[in-house]
Amino acid sequence: MNRPVRVRFAPSPTGPLHIGGVRTALYNYLYARKHKGTFILRLEDTDQTRFVPGAEAYIKESLSWLGIEIDEGPDQSGPHAPYRQSERKPMYRQYAEQLIEKGLAYYAFDTSEELEEMRKRLEASNMQPAYDAVSRMSMKNSLTLSADEVKERLDRGDNYVIRIKLPRKEEVRFHDIIRGWVVVSTNQMDDKVLLKGDGMPTYHLANVVDDYIMGISHVIRGEEWLPSAPLHVMLYRFLGWEEAMPEFAHLPLLLKPEGNGKLSKRDGDRLGFPVFPLKWTDPKTGELSSGYREAGYFPEAVVNMLALLGWHPSDNREHFSLEELIEAFTLERVSKSGAKFDVQKAFWFNQQYLQRKPLSEVYESVKDIIDEKGYDVCQEYVEGVIAMMREKVQFAKDTILQGTYFFEEPTQYDETVIQKKWTSETNAIINRLADVFGGISETASADEYESAYKSFCENEGIKPGSLLQPLRVVVSGEGVGAPIWEMIAHIGRDYITERMRKATTKISFSIA
Ligand code: GLU
Repeated sequence: MNRPVRVRFAPSPTGPLHIGGVRTALYNYLYARKHKGTFILRLEDTDQTRFVPGAEAYIKESLSWLGIEIDEGPDQSGPHAPYRQSERKPMYRQYAEQLIEKGLAYYAFDTSEELEEMRKRLEASNMQPAYDAVSRMSMKNSLTLSADEVKERLDRGDNYVIRIKLPRKEEVRFHDIIRGWVVVSTNQMDDKVLLKGDGMPTYHLANVVDDYIMGISHVIRGEEWLPSAPLHVMLYRFLGWEEAMPEFAHLPLLLKPEGNGKLSKRDGDRLGFPVFPLKWTDPKTGELSSGYREAGYFPEAVVNMLALLGWHPSDNREHFSLEELIEAFTLERVSKSGAKFDVQKAFWFNQQYLQRKPLSEVYESVKDIIDEKGYDVCQEYVEGVIAMMREKVQFAKDTILQGTYFFEEPTQYDETVIQKKWTSETNAIINRLADVFGGISETASADEYESAYKSFCENEGIKPGSLLQPLRVVVSGEGVGAPIWEMIAHIGRDYITERMRKATTKISFSIA
């Protein structure tokens, strides 16, 4: 069947979007774009007890930061608006009632105490404590109560739920693009609640009804939903929608760096990497969680890294822009087994983007730091610093934070170098070198400084190697850093000669 590709990302706004959820959104988006389809954002907010203020805005901001564009959703609208399930509430009841009419669902009036009692009873006799084909006949529902009593209870407004009535011993088979055939017996399933007395559907009913109505062609979601899929297949069957059932693709879990268990927020805290795209403050507890954006990651690097956590291209290529991912992505190349999160790899991806990005773009991402620090420098100067520093660091901000000597004169000087390299002559030599540097052109290049230095050393009768580190220290304060001649030329003649002279008044040579 060749149907238009329509996929949805269907988060529940119960908190910040986990990075695994972001990957689900990304794969849906890539699939939609690759097949010239539609990417839908649908908010599954029927469980009002788990609603968290701010979560929806957070989800949208995260997707937008990563460049994942929504075609239909609460803000974009579309042919199937509204896209928040709570706003679609009146729609769902009819489907649950249809199932009751067909004898495929029933009203259940059991109180929570009665349900608890059933669970205990079944557990005591070593049976699965489930509301199912066996146990339902001893419970209070429209299968066991008389029609009159059911009507009476409904008229009276008793609490009830509508449960699906699953047959016994039926095989549910469906094909998953990633996992192949999945076969489950209804004996292992229970009569899940579809609709609550207040008319609110559960996840299962709302999810299936909306996927059907919205013409979803592929359900691409996390592996944690695989156990729900057989029930969803049964719902399609019961509602007579089997022909239009979407194809399923259950994505592998994102695992802890050690490889066992699902990646959790605690792993992030423990190992020092964010598990959320953006920072998040829990509205109840005030607890703050870090985000990739605030940690200084480029969105392109996060997208690239996430794409490769669970999917791999046909070759060994690792660097992919969003456009290139759209081109290369296939669900068939998503792996079945969980993908281990690797923080070093996350750094590596960011570094790759830092090195490849146009300098003007990197400049944009450090501009705030320059302003905050109050550095009075032009864009060209900062770009020069970035060009020198970006080989050595993983984050754009570190080109500035680890290169402060490009903007401020040193306040201290590397002690180890002083201990090792200073002699009673060094300060005087540095002052003479400052005289030489002071005499060359204001716009001298790195090469010009280098040759001026070389002839100076020759005249002085010293080995060029012996003065390099002292020179670096008096100019930058540090023993290592940007390539020395480029650094000196960039900081500029007047600044460096002043720094050299000043340093000699501060560094006192003493024989230990
Ligand atoms: N609301 C579910 C979630 O929070 C959606 C699962 C699905 O995509 O069917 O992930």
